[in-house]
Amino acid sequence: MIKLEKRKILLLPGDGIGPEVTEEVKKIINWFNDNKSLGFETDEELVGGCSYDKHGTPITDEVFYKALESAVIMLGAVGGPKWESVEFDKKPERALLKLRKELKLFANLRPAICFKQLVDASTLKPEIISGLDIMIVRELTGGVYFGEPRGIKPIENGERKGVNTHTYKSSEIIRVAKVAFDLARKRSNKVISCEKSNVMEAGQLWKEEVQALHDKDYKDVNLSHMLADNCAMQLVRNPKQFDVILTDNLFGDMLSDEASMLTGSLGLLPSASLGAKNKDGEMRAMYEPIHGSAPDIAGKGIANPIASVLSFAMALRYSLDLDNEAEVLEKAVQDVLNDGLRTKDILSEGMKEVSTSEMGDAIISKLQ
Ligand code: NAD
Repeated sequence: MIKLEKRKILLLPGDGIGPEVTEEVKKIINWFNDNKSLGFETDEELVGGCSYDKHGTPITDEVFYKALESAVIMLGAVGGPKWESVEFDKKPERALLKLRKELKLFANLRPAICFKQLVDASTLKPEIISGLDIMIVRELTGGVYFGEPRGIKPIENGERKGVNTHTYKSSEIIRVAKVAFDLARKRSNKVISCEKSNVMEAGQLWKEEVQALHDKDYKDVNLSHMLADNCAMQLVRNPKQFDVILTDNLFGDMLSDEASMLTGSLGLLPSASLGAKNKDGEMRAMYEPIHGSAPDIAGKGIANPIASVLSFAMALRYSLDLDNEAEVLEKAVQDVLNDGLRTKDILSEGMKEVSTSEMGDAIISKLQ
């Protein structure tokens, strides 16, 4: 078995604004090394469209094996219009799906937090979203995105049929539900599990397995079940009723995007994708902002690096056992926002506009 190097961080900046926001994370890693002697070792590689351009594949075997040996992967973003016509298996996004699947990163954690300084950036009324703090736990390696059979095939009468299969095993449901229950215990102790048990057998199994695990090991956690379509509605009607939302790959994709928009800007929200702990307590994990490569603003120096910086704070907390440092970094971000510094995407009247690198520098100055 491959031994994971705990302080080894693999940087995969990717495409578009990915390299710009990852640059700010690099500065912060260097700051922690220089000032706190944390001994982080970084390595940087191509992934996504830039890897396709150089090597004809969105991730080379060499980079994939480096990822296998790294306890922490910091990803920027991949993709863009340049690679839209590339064949399906070579698309930039295939690299991400491969990393998630092969590294068995089955639990995707996506917080949706509304910063008090930015309540006006949301399209919802301030009283609906101020103080919002939701954690969405999305299953990431199963369900309809990976189920077999899949494909497009010709059928009779010159028609074609597209097939994807939504499938879950009990073990896949239980391992991600455990992550949600454990997180809830450190928060407000409430899990709402979402599926479509009214129309899908896989949803019915999901509900039964989550309830059984709760009754066996997590009776102290407040569990309820909600149909995923109702959850989509409740997220805009009364989002503060949620603490931890547990859901599958497909519904989680949509619900987490919806939840992120409650908070106003894609540029603020981090995510973590966690694997299982091995017998030595080691775990693989990949951290990335939830936004994409934002081709419309790439190269302009205006991307918001906060989502990437907060993704590194999640890495400090979940992979590196550095809770204090995570808190210090999160507080530095809050302090910068309190000072009225804003990148263009979150700019409002009376605030000072800063570039990507100025935002990174300001965060570092608050760490001092
Ligand atoms: P996107 O998240 O890249 O951009 C959506 C909008 O939000 C754009 O207007 C963009 O300018 C803005 N935005 C996003 N991040 C920002 C930031 N940090 N600061 C300021 N503004 C920001 O989504 P999209 O436009 O749908 O996708 C663009 C490309 O990214 C596509 O090729 C898509 O496949 C890819 N993508 C990649 C990932 C990933 O790598 N994990 C995720 C989503 C989309």
